[in-house]
Amino acid sequence: MITFISLSSGSNGNCYYIGNEKTAILIDVGIGVRTIKKRLAENDLSIDNVHAVLITHDHVDHIKHLGSFTERYMRPVYTTEKLSKALNYHFCTRGRMMGCVNELKMREQSIAEDIEVTPFVVPHDATETVGYYIDFFGETFTFLTDLGAPTEDAVKYAKIANNLIVESNYDVDMLLTGTYTKELKMRIMQDHGHLSNEQTASLIRRAYHKELKNIYLCHLSQNNNTPDLAYGYAEDALHTLGLKVKSDVMLHCLPRCQPSSKFCI
Ligand SMILES: [Zn+2]
Ligand SMILES: [Zn+2]
Repeated sequence: MITFISLSSGSNGNCYYIGNEKTAILIDVGIGVRTIKKRLAENDLSIDNVHAVLITHDHVDHIKHLGSFTERYMRPVYTTEKLSKALNYHFCTRGRMMGCVNELKMREQSIAEDIEVTPFVVPHDATETVGYYIDFFGETFTFLTDLGAPTEDAVKYAKIANNLIVESNYDVDMLLTGTYTKELKMRIMQDHGHLSNEQTASLIRRAYHKELKNIYLCHLSQNNNTPDLAYGYAEDALHTLGLKVKSDVMLHCLPRCQPSSKFCI
């Protein structure tokens, strides 16, 4: 059985876990080691089972605790060539990666027995940002956290995954009428910012396929979105395809500051 848990999702910190009885990986380490340990233990899982880490990009909410995690656990960290260089200079990771960083090519490659990963570039305002298509013991996951536009590649990899983790960051009306400065609003809405609920809904419409079992909405904004709004847009997108949530596909909103349920896939 394969387990997926979001340990935290959003600008407060991102960390996701995929594992089975043999091994596990983390995607991003934006929350503290003690919190990761505690949240895994609450779900009868152990941090000691984590054998590798994937990094999506070098924003603080994704790598804030990568340095302390690596110093403590010395697990291989996988990311792209550009991002691995950026980790040498970033204040969260500089001098702390202990030779653990491995560079990924932009193609499918094995990082451990029965774990293949494919990074692909997505538009976002970091040094470089990647989505991941992950084949974990035959179960497939596409991660699309932090991207400003639903690119062809994003749709392509969403179209072949059994599990889609995709950000539904902001509601356009809430953002436009909210208190953020004009500059910050523009930064979020531009093509290298984040996905709105509408953009995520459109991506889901384009990417749905019969093998898709779970859609997880991640990285919701605290100030410019609500779980009900994000869920509603995604559910409407599925309805327009004639699909029913629960009977045809599962739809989940991942909480921001708390761990999600333990999804057994
Ligand atoms: Zn982020
Ligand atoms: Zn980001």
